[in-house]
Amino acid sequence: NVRVRYAPSPTGRLHVGGVRTALFNWLFARKHGGVFVLRIEDTDLERSTEESVEQLKSSLRWIGLEWDEGPEVGGPHAPYRQTERLDLYREAARRLVDSGAAYYDFATPEELAAFRERERAAKRQPVYRGGEYREMPPEEARERVEAGEPYTVRFRTPRGGETVFEDMIRGPVRFDNASIEDFVLMKSSGTPTYNFAAAVDDAEMEISHVIRGDDHISNTPRQILIYEALGYELPAFAHVPQVLGPDRKKLSKRHGAASVEEFAAQGYLPEALFNYLALLGAGYAADEEIFTPEELAARFRIEKVSGNPAVFDLQKLTAINQVYIRKKSPEELAMIAAPMLVESGVASRDEIEGGMPRLTKIMALMRERISRLTEIPAAIGYFYGGALEYDPQEFEKQFGKEFVREAFPELVERLKQLPEWTEESTERCIRGLAAEKEKGARHLIHPTRFATTGRTVSAGLFETLELLGRERCIERLERAVE
Ligand code: GLU
Repeated sequence: NVRVRYAPSPTGRLHVGGVRTALFNWLFARKHGGVFVLRIEDTDLERSTEESVEQLKSSLRWIGLEWDEGPEVGGPHAPYRQTERLDLYREAARRLVDSGAAYYDFATPEELAAFRERERAAKRQPVYRGGEYREMPPEEARERVEAGEPYTVRFRTPRGGETVFEDMIRGPVRFDNASIEDFVLMKSSGTPTYNFAAAVDDAEMEISHVIRGDDHISNTPRQILIYEALGYELPAFAHVPQVLGPDRKKLSKRHGAASVEEFAAQGYLPEALFNYLALLGAGYAADEEIFTPEELAARFRIEKVSGNPAVFDLQKLTAINQVYIRKKSPEELAMIAAPMLVESGVASRDEIEGGMPRLTKIMALMRERISRLTEIPAAIGYFYGGALEYDPQEFEKQFGKEFVREAFPELVERLKQLPEWTEESTERCIRGLAAEKEKGARHLIHPTRFATTGRTVSAGLFETLELLGRERCIERLERAVE
């Protein structure tokens, strides 16, 4: 039975590195018909916030990572928030103390600091072994606990030997036990450490495969020691590398965007981010690009994931985003565009609400030219409003020519007279006039495009003219030749 989990600490937004780890868990679960659990690791009370819990959940849902068990959804191992599971950790700590696998440590912070300083002064890596407390008779320790003395619960790490595991991505990983201190399980505040809570929960939630960020690799031997001391069967482990920017530093907002929310705000579609991150460092051939989540899950192989950091390629994501924008129907895109046009002031609410069929046609014409949703208002703005601003230099280039100045008033006249305003009728009119003047059609097409759109490139001119509408076109053309 495959059971995997994503276990974020709610201390900020969902980073793409985190969502990639979540995605790999999800793909692994889907591939093996398993269960994907979401667990909120909120025992760090100072850094955890309710806002972040909400952001994490909504970011996961946005990108399409629904969890089978977890907050809101429930499940057989509820609750799925660590602050609601404190009794479980206290109980496990008691068991470990009773069996002798853990002990009470009464060292004060000052004593601990002094120990570390002594070791460093002697040029040794400080590996704390509990001093006198490690060997204190259990009776005596219990009396001091009962008397109300502050304590931590520490794991009695074996002094020798190795803790070894087979990482599904990196192969065998070994740690000398001598380098692992007697780590804290329960803090003096009565809350568990990350390692303890994670190990207890993974065991209790029957997690079969722990797939997490490789920043946790040195925690894994500690968690294995806890598992063994509690008598649980070990899960398999896979440590997923970080996601870096092109400068090989951890991807951050400096690189453009780093959290799921930032990518959403910059006009990336959830399907595109999903597709891109699922491919990133996942060991597929480079030419394989567009897949549905189901296809990605069918192909996913955790052993193929690269052990090297993944370098985020914003251009590739943008190219994939463009493909997904093109896959959307014009109707869907019009629904997305409508509020953006109103908010950016390109068009009034009435104009948009009364003009959805037209907006749909505009999106059908323009969707190929948009690679991020946020580009929509600027990309299609000229289909709305009246007069345009022209770049004076380009204007001079387009309308400074003698032929253009001569021919345009006549062109405008003929366009005004057209019995109907369609792609075909405007094309016939413009090409016809150019032919009469024995000029290539481009001599009229380019300035017409510039005058009506304010740009030197656009979608097909005649389709564009039809969608712009006669009144707007005539107004802009007249202004150009005034
Ligand atoms: N709460 C840990 C984190 O956000 C999760 C580590 C784990 O998956 O075990 O880094």
